[in-house]
Amino acid sequence: PVPVVAVVGRPNVGKSTLVNRIIGRRQAVVEDKPGVTRDRVPYDAQWSGRRFTVVDTGGWEPDAKDRAAAIAAQAEIAVQTADVVIFVVDAMVGATDVDEKAVRMLRRSSKPVILVANKADNQNIENETVSLWGLGLGEPFPLSALHGRNAGDLLDKILAAM
Ligand code: GDP
Ligand code: MG
Repeated sequence: PVPVVAVVGRPNVGKSTLVNRIIGRRQAVVEDKPGVTRDRVPYDAQWSGRRFTVVDTGGWEPDAKDRAAAIAAQAEIAVQTADVVIFVVDAMVGATDVDEKAVRMLRRSSKPVILVANKADNQNIENETVSLWGLGLGEPFPLSALHGRNAGDLLDKILAAM
């Protein structure tokens, strides 16, 4: 079976941009407005000769109501059915309360989690990502999904975790 990598995190942190970076084409829908991806959307991916499925999800907001709650539920199913989880946070914003709640759910899932600090477009932002050690998910991995900064190293890390 092909390994499954789920990409989860709050709305607007750059999950779909990262998925596009991983699959090497613009297929996952990127929007300035949050809440575009509602379900779990799988894409075929390949890196260093290994195939895997990467799953884009909608914004993960624990305790959300109504429509947002349905989107969060889909993200949780994506976690439960994944071999590796990429948890994306916004390096420009830092860890939020919602991020911390999501981390509690990730812990309960017992899945291997890679903490990605996205929007680390430059060294100054990257330096700030040390604060994300506080989430308790290990070393934050600084990335700019938009510009491709550290993207190859992240893919190597994903393969190592599968
Ligand atoms: P999602 O809601 O988590 O899927 O986020 P999107 O991928 O749709 O991106 C939300 C916004 O963040 C878009 O305007 C993206 O262009 C922007 N974005 C994504 N990745 C980066 C990044 O690495 N750096 C910067 N500066 N912006 C980014
Ligand atoms: Mg999206």
